[in-house]
Amino acid sequence: MESKVHVLVIPYPVQGHINPMLQFSKRLVSKGVKVTLLTISFEECLRDKHAGSVAVQTIADDQQEKNRSMEDRLINFPDLLSQKLPEIIVKQRNHGYPVSCLVYDALLPRVLEIAKQQGLLGASFSTQSCAVGTIYSSVYEGKLRMPVEAPSVLLPGLPPLFVCDLPSFVSDLENNYPDALELLTGQFSNVEKADWIFFNTFNSLEKQVMNWMARKWPIKPVGPTIPSMFLDKRLEDDRDYGLSLFKPNSDACLKWLDSKRPSSVVYISFGSLLALREDQVAELAWGLKRSNTCFLWVVRESEIKKLPNNFVEETIEMGLVVTWSPQLEVLAHKSVGCFLTHCGWNSILEALSLGVPMVAMPQWSDQPTNAKFVTDVWQVGVKVKADEYGIVTKEEIERCVREVMEGEKGNEIRKNSEKWKKLACMAVDEGGKSDKNIEEFVTKLVCSSN
Ligand code: UDP
Repeated sequence: MESKVHVLVIPYPVQGHINPMLQFSKRLVSKGVKVTLLTISFEECLRDKHAGSVAVQTIADDQQEKNRSMEDRLINFPDLLSQKLPEIIVKQRNHGYPVSCLVYDALLPRVLEIAKQQGLLGASFSTQSCAVGTIYSSVYEGKLRMPVEAPSVLLPGLPPLFVCDLPSFVSDLENNYPDALELLTGQFSNVEKADWIFFNTFNSLEKQVMNWMARKWPIKPVGPTIPSMFLDKRLEDDRDYGLSLFKPNSDACLKWLDSKRPSSVVYISFGSLLALREDQVAELAWGLKRSNTCFLWVVRESEIKKLPNNFVEETIEMGLVVTWSPQLEVLAHKSVGCFLTHCGWNSILEALSLGVPMVAMPQWSDQPTNAKFVTDVWQVGVKVKADEYGIVTKEEIERCVREVMEGEKGNEIRKNSEKWKKLACMAVDEGGKSDKNIEEFVTKLVCSSN
């Protein structure tokens, strides 16, 4: 029997936000909730439209909207939502599927106002770590004043952080991205009015900072939001994320990995958005060659022209370059021994959940903070050091890859990685804290709709 409870889930329409909110949606469906995920009509960019058990609705936008660049459409998304969401909710009601709760990306706090105007429940969902959330909330509340001039800061629940460990929009002395900073700190503008506050994290991973934040707001960890087949294996048919903006070269990646020795490959990816400087791409390329380690490197189509001439030919025996990978399958593959990552939050949770040691090469946004935790708190990786020009040299790349793959420290890191893999699975498995939080959410929704 179909449940009467219907939840509308609204991620910011970028890959790193769609993935976790879609996975959370699948967990809700598995517990009897009807879920519709709302997104912009970027069908033309979606390479994988499959969303498993979750219904997908696109916001019908006019020609003017469609003529905008993708970047402008993303910037305009909160305004578009404010315009269109009320009528979408009314239509769902008229069609016999009344929505009882809006689960909205924490970066879209205006959705909460709409939920309240429509008499609905509202649940904020943060796709970043709780540590990063604490830093942004401290800026929002004026407890961490910008520009941050002290060499290090002490915030409750967090280890001492050097300025370079703070999210880049906070450590940036010139505040070059005021809009991004406003978007990120604005998530706390009305959070106290939300009926639920979810974080894509898990209890054992961020215990201290979550305990501290829980004194102010009733936050609930519900992660890691990884397809079930890579974690607790309780949801059949949940083998990948779906709704992908990129097409993976799956066969090529997996066949190539099959031909390699266990734990012999370093996997490199910088996520869905990041663009590296051309000289940085060159250093990375030659560093990989120097490390003399097999590598699988994701270089998105828009980045491929930055690869040094002849690099692919010169490294054909040891490396494979693809424009997008099936990242979870890659990380789960026995041949992969290390993940050189930009430290996007999803990538970190995926590596932790699959027990893969990391070389952290953070660039901006929340990545420096995530990297700090990878190296100093969870101790599952090492971080590269940039030179005085902000470049990570080929020698440094080689040093870090070797340290994780071959060095003494690598053994310790591998042991820790195995520990986190178990804890991540426990969190979402039956009876785990994240599972219980989702269960409790569903029970309350059912009760409130009766
Ligand atoms: N991803 C993927 N294939 C790739 C690179 C990335 O499937 O070749 C996925 C990855 O598994 C993750 C998401 O894209 O779920 C990237 O999110 P993350 O938060 O790591 O970085 P962002 O793209 O937001 O910077």
